[in-house]
Amino acid sequence: MIEMEFIKEVKELSGQNIYLCYHCHKCTSGCLVASNMTYGPDRLLLMVRMGQGKRLLESPDPWVCSSCGTCGTRCPNEIDISRVMDALRCIAVKEKVKVAEPDSVKFHRIFLGIVNRFGRMHEAGLMGIYTLWTLKLAAKISTAARLIIKGKIVIRPKVVKGKDEINRIFEKSEQFMSRSSKTLKQGEKG
Ligand code: SF4
Ligand code: SF4
Repeated sequence: MIEMEFIKEVKELSGQNIYLCYHCHKCTSGCLVASNMTYGPDRLLLMVRMGQGKRLLESPDPWVCSSCGTCGTRCPNEIDISRVMDALRCIAVKEKVKVAEPDSVKFHRIFLGIVNRFGRMHEAGLMGIYTLWTLKLAAKISTAARLIIKGKIVIRPKVVKGKDEINRIFEKSEQFMSRSSKTLKQGEKG
């Protein structure tokens, strides 16, 4: 991927002005999962600005981020890094990058597939499909059994009212991603 195209893509998808960052480190010091990342939130922004797409997309950072939004609320320049992480995840999936956390990609795919199908989350379905796909049977089955016994998750999924609106959101998202993919490919040719 051409570096300038990578920077443009992240800016467009995230809607964030990454050039406002002056590396005060407040985002990283408040991020509960920064210790599990290779770069961490503020260094990651610097790498986006330097067009280090390949290294970032292959790193665990975008997939370790829980999208809690703490970094955005701590940032004096109101940069929402969770949206930058979203953008990196989108690009990684679109570009079929071999990511460091493949099970997280599976989790996101199942999560969105269920929301697309029913308009809401169905935890039993999410746990069941994720367990089978990742073959993490023992740990997940005991957790699921405990949650079902406590009535925390329902067995039968229900379709939400106004499902058409959910469908429209997914359609728009797919159109946006395919538009942005074409732009990227044109940029690579030019
Ligand atoms: S808090 Fe904001 S300005 Fe400070 S390092 Fe993080 S993103 Fe940059
Ligand atoms: S949104 Fe992601 S990067 Fe920001 S504080 Fe939360 S986990 Fe860390």
